[in-house]
Amino acid sequence: LPPLPKDAPIGPLQDDKFSRYSGATMFKELPLSKRTQDGLKRANFSKMTDIQRASLPHSLCGRDILGAAKTGSGKTLAFIIPIVEKLYKERWGSEDGVGGIIISPTRELAGQLFDVLKTVGKFHNFSAGLLIGGRKEVEMEKEHVNALNILVCTPGRLLQHMDETPNFDCSQLQKTFVVESCFVLSDLSALLAIEQVLVLDEADRILDVGFKKTLNAIVAQLPKCRQTLLFSATQTKSIQDLARLSLKDPEYISVHEDA
Ligand code: ADP
Ligand code: MG
Repeated sequence: LPPLPKDAPIGPLQDDKFSRYSGATMFKELPLSKRTQDGLKRANFSKMTDIQRASLPHSLCGRDILGAAKTGSGKTLAFIIPIVEKLYKERWGSEDGVGGIIISPTRELAGQLFDVLKTVGKFHNFSAGLLIGGRKEVEMEKEHVNALNILVCTPGRLLQHMDETPNFDCSQLQKTFVVESCFVLSDLSALLAIEQVLVLDEADRILDVGFKKTLNAIVAQLPKCRQTLLFSATQTKSIQDLARLSLKDPEYISVHEDA
């Protein structure tokens, strides 16, 4: 992979710059890294969907998002792109630990998100892990956990590890893996590191299936200094409750494409 150019921007877009991109309709109009642009191009993503167009100018500035758009509207790229861009611009490396956590209600959906992450992150060299429970390769996984940059997980599994392995330390391990490598972890000690971006996908479903307490407990254990992106198909009262716990002055975005 080519080295990061010396003049690559560091940190999120200036807050007042988002309006410059609010009229963008194509991904290529956004100030994304070449690596991300190449990943999108290779997957034939060129024109943004409404939720992507409405949220990316804000989320790329580092703002918290509470987004609602119906199923199939393209919410996944609306949070995968900001995570990858944020870590890239902050020159996040294998030694920096977990920089992003994506929480999904089911194993199946988490697996799908992981596939999109691999697509968009194809030309980046971040590492990512899928933590969905039901797998047993604990010892091997422990060796890799601290080198992971992005975790995709279900709430129960996430909390289980936060509770059961709070002091596990593998900070001496410094390995680099590409996003294409898929590690299924059973250990979450890397959460002791500072998270940069927290995503709740299908937040309404997560609440529906009774994860509310779990999520509150997870959020309580995470550092306060982070960007939070919360996406769901509907904007319900209980989501607003959750948002109050975890979002800072969020941008409320609700998109209803020609229903
Ligand atoms: P949601 O999470 O809102 O239900 P997804 O993120 O799963 O929607 O996307 C639904 C489908 O639309 C997927 O097949 C995805 O590949 C596709 N898609 C998303 N964004 C775009 C885009 N900008 N251009 C073309 N297809 C897209
Ligand atoms: Mg989705």
